[in-house]
Amino acid sequence: MIMNLKQYVRNIPDFPVKGIQFKDVTTLFKEAKILQELSDMLYDKYRNCGITKVAGIESRGFIMGPLLAVRLGAGFIPIRKPGKLPAAVYEESYSKEYGTDAVQIHKDAISEGETVLLHDDLLATGGTMAASIRLLAKFNPRQIYVNCLIELEELNGRATFAPDVKVDTIIKY
Ligand code: AMP
Repeated sequence: MIMNLKQYVRNIPDFPVKGIQFKDVTTLFKEAKILQELSDMLYDKYRNCGITKVAGIESRGFIMGPLLAVRLGAGFIPIRKPGKLPAAVYEESYSKEYGTDAVQIHKDAISEGETVLLHDDLLATGGTMAASIRLLAKFNPRQIYVNCLIELEELNGRATFAPDVKVDTIIKY
């Protein structure tokens, strides 16, 4: 077990705009032993939860998401920015610092009563994740689990989620 995963996260000051400390996960993923460690940690957390679908948020949720889905024997569902998914979609919008944004999911992505794990690389204000949770709730799942590799705790993003959602993150700042 490699305890200090933080040393593998690259911090980029003032990216993409001044004042943001960007947490770059590519430096985690490029190390074979760290990629394996993350995969094992996620698998151990969720192996007994009865997950039938892993939903990943565009685009950094598309890296560990499918990898974890394969290990759990679950399907993978992409949650994408507007205009990318080709078939009929549900959409939820959320506010950002300037203006609004939205996420979409295919209407036939999930069946009622499934257990879904929603994954992204990083939880900041929680806007993207909360909108994605609202998308998943439309399918009336048995349980929604949320996982992010990194959580910026002072922003308290998880406070914006529905109370029955089970949230877990690995590296906390
Ligand atoms: P939020 O909706 O504020 O929780 O933002 C989460 C989304 O924005 C995730 O998809 C992250 O990849 C990205 N993000 C937000 N803040 C950062 C940050 N400081 N470093 C890296 N990615 C970030």
